[in-house]
Amino acid sequence: MLLAVIRCVLAALLGVTLPERCWADQGVQPGLEIGQYPLDALPRVLPPRAAMPCDGSLVTYHGERVRYASPARVYPAFVARLRAFEALLSEQAIAHYGRVPRVLVHLGTQSCRRMRRYPDWVSEHALGNAIDVAGFDFGPLPAHAVAPEGLPRALRGSFSVRIAQHWHARGVVGSWQATFLHDLARALIARPDIFRVLLGPAFPGHQNHLHLDFAPYRVVEVFDDRDPATAKQ
Ligand SMILES: [Zn+2]
Repeated sequence: MLLAVIRCVLAALLGVTLPERCWADQGVQPGLEIGQYPLDALPRVLPPRAAMPCDGSLVTYHGERVRYASPARVYPAFVARLRAFEALLSEQAIAHYGRVPRVLVHLGTQSCRRMRRYPDWVSEHALGNAIDVAGFDFGPLPAHAVAPEGLPRALRGSFSVRIAQHWHARGVVGSWQATFLHDLARALIARPDIFRVLLGPAFPGHQNHLHLDFAPYRVVEVFDDRDPATAKQ
């Protein structure tokens, strides 16, 4: 068992195709294993002066269960990843707040560039295969909705929750917000068929958003060991 786990982790670190059972263990749906997604075959490492692969056709997505504050330009197959994200977000939001957010606020999807920290690598943003989620805006709790037990009064009206402000927040309301964000992140980490790469406050430059993408490798750096409330689990 341990050897199998080590083999899966090594394969992920080396960026090679993971054996199918590595994904089956994590509940990945058939067809979403590494190698099955249309962009998986595209090389991600680029020589210094090579042209960027930014000429793919993209679509504009506005969100369905949750409206996006600004339109998202994305690779067509990434739309299904975003729909799955909205479903999981809705479950978590109902559990924590009794309703689904009205608006998803993101910092961008498509940007033709290399990775800032690893310039030999194509950013998934270049392909429209990533989204930077900053937070969510909620409307008032509907009259028919069941409020979760202990929901602070301040969170029964309209409010915003943001990675930047609430990831490390304390106090009754603040910790409620932080717990929602952490539970959402943990639920996403448990679903590598939705996003394979998740970067958050633990990763440099990501204090104000969750970077979520579907690159052909697995990287998770979300929780920050500095804060015991968000220590890696
Ligand atoms: Zn990003």
